[in-house]
Amino acid sequence: MGIRIENTPHGAGPVIICDYCGTRIHAARDGNYEWAGLSTALGERMAVYFLHKWCSPAHEAQSGIVLDSMELAVMLPYLAQNLRLDFDEALCHAETLSEL
Ligand SMILES: [Zn+2]
Repeated sequence: MGIRIENTPHGAGPVIICDYCGTRIHAARDGNYEWAGLSTALGERMAVYFLHKWCSPAHEAQSGIVLDSMELAVMLPYLAQNLRLDFDEALCHAETLSEL
């Protein structure tokens, strides 16, 4: 599931859907992004899963893979760094495009 665009009262916007239960993760503190950290080779890319924290154990049991995880609350700062994003500038730009 991952990231999807959902129509909301304020317009279409990105949301994160749990890869285990298929429902929306409404609060960053309720979710993790997780990956199978089998390799530490520089530049290696791995699939990412978005999971409610309470869905993570069942997802691991189902997939048979133990995943590394980080809370969704820290995902945006890491993405901003990796995208060389000026967060304040991006926020202003988003506010001119639609109501946040
Ligand atoms: Zn879930």
